Amino acid sequence: MEKIIHHGIAASPGIVIGKALILSQEDFCIKMRKLQDKEIEQEIIRFQEALNTTKQELIAIRDKVNGRLGTKHATIFEAYLLVLDDPMLVKETIAKIRKERMNVEYVFSQTISKFAHVFTSMGDEYLRERGRDIQDLGKRVLHNLLGEKKHSLSQLKEEVIIIANDLTPSDTVQMREEKILGFITNMGGKTSHTAIMAQSLGIPAIVGLKDITAKVKTGDEIILDGYEGIVVINPVRSLLEEYEKRNKKYIEIKKQLHKLKDLPAVTLDGREVQLVANIEIPDEVELALESGATGIGLFRTEFIYLNRADLPGEEEQTRVYRNIAKKIAPHSVVLRTLDLGGDKLSEQLGTNTETNPFLGLRGIRLCLKYQDLFRAQLRAILQASTSGKIKIMYPMISTVEEIKKANHILDQVKDELKKEHIDFDKDLEVGAMIETPSAALTADVIAREVDFLSIGSNDLIQYTIAVDRGNENVAYLYEPLHPSILRQIKYVIEAGHRAGKLVGMCGEMAGEPELALILLGMGLDEFSMGSANIPKIKKVIREATMNQAKGIVNKILDLPTVEAIKKLIKQTHIRNEE
Ligand code: PEP
Ligand code: MG
Repeated sequence: MEKIIHHGIAASPGIVIGKALILSQEDFCIKMRKLQDKEIEQEIIRFQEALNTTKQELIAIRDKVNGRLGTKHATIFEAYLLVLDDPMLVKETIAKIRKERMNVEYVFSQTISKFAHVFTSMGDEYLRERGRDIQDLGKRVLHNLLGEKKHSLSQLKEEVIIIANDLTPSDTVQMREEKILGFITNMGGKTSHTAIMAQSLGIPAIVGLKDITAKVKTGDEIILDGYEGIVVINPVRSLLEEYEKRNKKYIEIKKQLHKLKDLPAVTLDGREVQLVANIEIPDEVELALESGATGIGLFRTEFIYLNRADLPGEEEQTRVYRNIAKKIAPHSVVLRTLDLGGDKLSEQLGTNTETNPFLGLRGIRLCLKYQDLFRAQLRAILQASTSGKIKIMYPMISTVEEIKKANHILDQVKDELKKEHIDFDKDLEVGAMIETPSAALTADVIAREVDFLSIGSNDLIQYTIAVDRGNENVAYLYEPLHPSILRQIKYVIEAGHRAGKLVGMCGEMAGEPELALILLGMGLDEFSMGSANIPKIKKVIREATMNQAKGIVNKILDLPTVEAIKKLIKQTHIRNEE
């Protein structure tokens, strides 16, 4: 029977229609069962079969990863295979099945927990992480024992829409080459990194549906409307046809917008701003250019640190950054230094062990703690800087001292390179992200230490309103138009301009057509956003005048509530369309 669910958070635009695939939960219900004598040998055979199946799965994944991403990324699977062959693990489980006469799932889950505990209770972060690897491996074997195949996205035979409780940004990045039409999750918010990654990859997505995994079955036909956040389960023919029609209309709008590609983002009265792109993976540069971006305003470099067992070295990073700089030249690329932590957890650094990761060792804090890591990245960025126009930007700044410390390390790294006779761009610009209220309210002080400011509205909203950007339960509070956000943005732009510095924005707000006039009116110089939004923002800017934009700003700053501000924006848009 057809069922329409309306209340999802539209995380990544696009309409797709396809079969649902539920990604099973990671947690199992392991039942204890006493074995009869005659069942014991059969239970041991079941165990060995499950081990073999898991090995075959791991070998297949290892070979695939090896072919696509190189041996480095495949090492984690080698390590898993070694653990599966560990005589302690295997012998102990078999001996216990015989001695305790209990079912294999129960015995194995106990053995693996004991095994993992040895590592997870160690002081060393690296070894603790290996404990989590063992737990993950245990889950794979248990899936096979329970006959609940753990779905490996790389083994899909047909195109599907993924339905899951939650997905990490690293799960999402794996979707790009697979047969995945879109995804829908119980958890998540509009600016969670999973949602941002989906937009970058052009995968339609809806998040924050709370209980969608309980409403959909694998094999159900699904309409995923990533524009409106609507899910339809088993639609009737007439609705399918309507959505197919709507899809055609959206494609037509996109075509029209594409015609603006080579035109400047200039208002009717001559104020030009830069529309640049946010990217998470290097391949996105082509898409950015295709959308008419005049540069990359944010490369989230931390994504090259995810989904791998080791850390990318200096040489590998230099190659990646050089490539991007060359492709985007003569425009510039802003390489944001590592922003691991928060919802981008690093297995290698153990940042997934904090109780409050968004308030923890994230961004510049992590870099100042693990200075070798930071220095390697700065060396790579500097070396790549001879291949185009590169700028550096520090994330998660909350005090001016962090910038001074980071700049001091940058100077030391430059001296090192000079001594080694390695060339770099001596005029390389350095910027700070303004994404905490403490940075926003001291933007005047920060502006003195850097060449440019970039407002990270995703986090600025999260930290100002005290609302987790990835939590669907409080998503209703996550509001760019909250007067506290608008006042801070205005203050940051003015403070930056007083210091003679360029002020941009690279949070999702910069790509929202309804908000473009406000940011324009406040004087924002550069809008950095997911490539798909560039033509839409350009259209708004090219049809506006500065007078009109400033007029809106003057009016909304006097309004006390989000509701009143939204009403005014709506009226302005209606007037513009008339
Ligand atoms: C932001 O916070 O607005 C931002 C651009 O950084 P990220 O989304 O990667 O946290
Ligand atoms: Mg941020």
